[in-house]
Amino acid sequence: MKMPESIPDYFLAPCGVNCFVCYAHLKNKKPCSGCLGDDNNKPERCKNCDIKNCAAERGYTHCFECSTYPCTVIKRLEKSYLQRYQVDLRKNCEIANNQGPSALMKDERIKWTCPKCNGVINQHDKICSECNTNSAQYGDI
Ligand SMILES: [Zn+2]
Repeated sequence: MKMPESIPDYFLAPCGVNCFVCYAHLKNKKPCSGCLGDDNNKPERCKNCDIKNCAAERGYTHCFECSTYPCTVIKRLEKSYLQRYQVDLRKNCEIANNQGPSALMKDERIKWTCPKCNGVINQHDKICSECNTNSAQYGDI
């Protein structure tokens, strides 16, 4: 998938994950429309995600709107994302909370654009969804 001019705000999941650069959204067949989208092509564990469902039940779009943020459930996910993917969800939420989701998505768009082909880089394996270049070699991400 080529990186579009902008990443729509609704791809920012309640927990701070950018669903646009998730493997489930980048697959060619039946791409997921993100945690805030419909359930049709959503991976099972995302359908049953406690965090997403908790935010919905409490009437929040994003967890950082909640008075209990960051709760233990979100802290566990943040830790796991940092360790497994070097993705800092706390920082994502901080930017989205202070400057708005669009500002975060602007940064994210630059961060996850393949330098070779302008494709979208998968944040989980750092591989470009368009040309398969592994961007882990460029450091930073
Ligand atoms: Zn590429």
